[in-house]
This record gives sequence, structure tokens and C-alpha cells, in this order.
Amino acid sequence: MSRLLNRIVANMRAEAMLAVLRLLPLVSRRRDVLGVRTYLALTDTNQFATVRNQLDLAIRLIAQFDPPRFARIARDLKGILVYPFSPRPRAQYIRSFGYCELSTSTLLGDDFVSAACMIVHEATHARLRRVRAHEAEQRLRVERACIAQEIAFLERLPHMSSRVESAQDMLKSLNAEDYTDAALWADYLSEWRAAAATATRRVAARDSRQSTSE
Ligand SMILES: [Zn+2]
Repeated sequence: MSRLLNRIVANMRAEAMLAVLRLLPLVSRRRDVLGVRTYLALTDTNQFATVRNQLDLAIRLIAQFDPPRFARIARDLKGILVYPFSPRPRAQYIRSFGYCELSTSTLLGDDFVSAACMIVHEATHARLRRVRAHEAEQRLRVERACIAQEIAFLERLPHMSSRVESAQDMLKSLNAEDYTDAALWADYLSEWRAAAATATRRVAARDSRQSTSE
């Protein structure tokens, strides 16, 4: 596929996805945590208490250990939106949407420090939203800035030396080849396929539970 066509198709998919995304805050459970709006759009209501508690802990961790950063995050993000856009722990920021988006699985364990780092990372994308990043090298520079901010945040927390080291290793391993249009497109498709496969498995499991109980 030509580069231009690739970009047009990617833009169309992004527009369609954004149209759906814009509805999510309207139909989600909203809660303000220390002035930050959070929205939980969960498909499994059994997960609600765990996700809410982990998200609260992540937000409060930033507020307690890095108050100036927390104030910037509260200004730069429209809010934090949690929904199952990936089966894996993942975060993203879409400039025209303005939310830090966290996949539900990010908040299902007990690692709220990682969730806090993801919020710091995506809030840096929000802060740099006016920086032009259409080319791989520009995207790489933005990504480096976001990970550098994660490291600066982790350095304010006690007992985080191994996490700081892993983030520094990640920073060194970043490669412009992973930020080309083609690489981002391949990543998007693999995420979409994984999310679709998880949804299909969930429906099949529900159907088999219903048929055994009939
Ligand atoms: Zn990033």
C-alpha cells in the first residue's frame, strides 16, 4: 500500500474510532479524584472496585510525591478514561480527544506504580501535543521526552531503583524504525486483532455458561 493511501486509511479508521470514543465519557461512571476526572467504561462490572481502587492509588501517588507534576497533569488532561481497548496493560493519548486512556488490564493487578507511570507518560504527550510529530524521528524525540518524565517521577519515589534502571534501558533501546507509519499501523492492527479475539472468547465462554445452565 502506498504511504499516502496507508495514511488516508489510518486517518479514516482513527476518525471512526474517535466518533465512538467521544461517547464513552457520556456512558461511563464518572468520579473526580483530587480534581482529576476519571471515567470507568468497564464491560465487566465485577472488575469495577479493583479498577477504581488501583486508579485512585495511582493518582494519589503522583499527587503525594510530585505535587507540581500533579498540578500540570490535572491541567493538561481532560481526564482519565479506562476501557478495554487492549487485552494488555496499555495507555494512549489521542490529541484531538484529550484523555489519558488506560486499558482495563492496566488496573486489574496491584501494580499501581506502573499505572501512575503510564499517566505521567501520557500527560507528557498531552503537554507536547502541539509539537509536530509526523515523522519517525520526531515521534522518537517525543517518546524519549515522555520516558524521561517517567524516570524523573520514579526518582521521587522511595525504593524505585530497579524501575528507574528498566526505564533507562527502555530509553536506550528506543528505535526510530518502531515509529514509522508502517510500524505504528502494524502495532494498531495487532492490538485490534488481540482485542477482537479476547471479545470473541468472552462471548463464547458466556454462551457456553448459559447453555450448561439451561
Ligand atoms: Zn508514548
